[in-house]
Amino acid sequence: MSNVFNWQLGREMDYPYDAAFPDQQFAFIFNTNRCIGCQTCTMACKSTWTFSKGQEYAWWNNVETKPYGGYPHHWDVKTLDLLEQASPGNQVWGGTPEDLKAPYGKFNGKTVFEAAKTYIGPEGANRALGYLPTDEEWSAPNRYEDHPVGNEKGVKGQYFKGGELLPEHKTWFFYLARICNHCSYPACLAACPRNAIYKRPEDGIVLIDQERCRGYRKCMEACPYKKTYYRGTTRTSEKCIACYPRIEGKDQAGHGLPMITRCMASCIGHIRLQGLIELNKDGTWKEARNNPLYYLIHVAKVALPLYPQFGTEPNGYYIPPRWVSRPYLRQMFGPGVDDAIEKYSAPDRELLAVLQLFGKDQRICHRYEIKEGPKVFETEVRGKKFVMYNDTIIGYAKDGTKIIETTVEEPLHVRDAKHANSI
Ligand code: SF4
Ligand code: SF4
Repeated sequence: MSNVFNWQLGREMDYPYDAAFPDQQFAFIFNTNRCIGCQTCTMACKSTWTFSKGQEYAWWNNVETKPYGGYPHHWDVKTLDLLEQASPGNQVWGGTPEDLKAPYGKFNGKTVFEAAKTYIGPEGANRALGYLPTDEEWSAPNRYEDHPVGNEKGVKGQYFKGGELLPEHKTWFFYLARICNHCSYPACLAACPRNAIYKRPEDGIVLIDQERCRGYRKCMEACPYKKTYYRGTTRTSEKCIACYPRIEGKDQAGHGLPMITRCMASCIGHIRLQGLIELNKDGTWKEARNNPLYYLIHVAKVALPLYPQFGTEPNGYYIPPRWVSRPYLRQMFGPGVDDAIEKYSAPDRELLAVLQLFGKDQRICHRYEIKEGPKVFETEVRGKKFVMYNDTIIGYAKDGTKIIETTVEEPLHVRDAKHANSI
């Protein structure tokens, strides 16, 4: 095991290989507050990459209803439980947040790599603590869709009269959209006995070499997010490839510019923002104040990693759902949850403008600029003043091409009365 630095945990940790970081890293933010669970992303991915024989259970992009849903079923609860068994009562955060090196404080528990050393299963020690889901657990990709959790039961045929109020709803669920996180310390890669899994130096995308893979499924067992899939017809494992031909600018629609993935581009709810992040030598992010991902993750801190305590340093970030039980969210996204929700619920001028970039163009936005506009609205959000300005945000691709220009207020077009029935 090597000692590597994991900035999401605010400390060094064990990893089976030395740290090696790409020049730039594929990363994304999903805003859970906007997801409507329509599964357009899921079908965009399936119809592009996993429509062939043997790929029936491969859902590289899936959207599950939390807390009960999950694909494979209970993937997160099972891994959390294994970690708890390996380190009873100690899976907790401490320390104080510091910029870049430890923005959420310090995780004092055990990661899947550290727990593997102490939790010896029937087949001996693994490189990462995990489990192999059963066929039954893989069989239903959207089990428990729209199932809420809560004390008060509904009455069939009647609206719930009690209503729900922020900051936390008593009865709740939310949609969690997921793809492979193209982790900085991938557990799938660490566990592969064939060295078939690699991380591309040019963009950090994690791929499985189909020539080398022999289908041992060690990656499936080790990935805490369960984002590799076994294909019986080829006897190999497959996974999300981050639509790398599009990232490479080979999709003709992009005219040579790097494009976002199919699931991101098709998202109806505009919940997704994708980027390529430049890294320092120690794996922390190079300061890029006007890169939208850098701003949302490191400056505004409204987007948080999914289960950072697993230790793989996932490159998928989430703006947490603001109506959901806080202890549940802290377990899922770490200790930054309360501040993130507070900021998102009454966004300042810059945050509100940057949030308009989600889903606006298929080309990757590298930098933004804001042109100030007039004040249009003022109110109070749970005791805090909220002022809205109709600013214009402009997004640029890496080569400086202007790709987005949009205002905070959506333009409203009123149809002329004489054309009231026109379409
Ligand atoms: S999410 Fe899983 S499959 Fe994807 S890179 Fe991380 S460990 Fe590997
Ligand atoms: S397309 Fe967007 S809104 Fe629809 S389920 Fe997927 S992530 Fe959610």
